[in-house]
Amino acid sequence: MANLVAIVGRPNVGKSTLFNRLTKTRQAIVSDTAGTTRDRQYGKCEWNGREFSVVDTGGWVVKSDDIFEDAIRKQVIVATEEADVVLFVVDVQTGLTDWDQDVATILRRTKLPVILVANKTDNNDQIYDAAEFYALGLGEPQCISSATGSGTGDLLDLVLTKL
Ligand code: GDP
Ligand code: MG
Repeated sequence: MANLVAIVGRPNVGKSTLFNRLTKTRQAIVSDTAGTTRDRQYGKCEWNGREFSVVDTGGWVVKSDDIFEDAIRKQVIVATEEADVVLFVVDVQTGLTDWDQDVATILRRTKLPVILVANKTDNNDQIYDAAEFYALGLGEPQCISSATGSGTGDLLDLVLTKL
């Protein structure tokens, strides 16, 4: 698929919420329960007269933490195989986790453009909290709130420069 933007990240960071906002649908299931998006979900996004595809890489329903980690790894590897740009979503309110580090390790090896997205930045004070994500070695975190839509316009501008 040409011009494909993949949304990756550990469960519950807001990947599906971001997908729904970018595609203006409610296609992806948003849930408080980690790991509820079963399959990859494709949609279209239009911004500034350009159209591209978006995939919510979801996650798999799994039981133990061990398999969970494998599932996230698999999700990220599949995404990097098919995507042109990767949106790596992290959660400002939870902060940096080991799982974020795991995903970052895979993404630092890819040649694809990776945009680090600090989601759940619902207010201006939380912008300062996002600074800890510089430690992932993937550049500047783009602060957005998928819930309110704040910052998503700037994010889309940036995506277009990478496609
Ligand atoms: P996913 O597992 O990464 O797909 O995450 P979901 O999109 O299912 O969202 C997980 C939870 O985070 C849900 O309760 C969402 O409502 C919530 N959420 C998503 N984006 C935001 C945001 O920008 N701010 C806040 N406060 N909550 C969010
Ligand atoms: Mg999801």
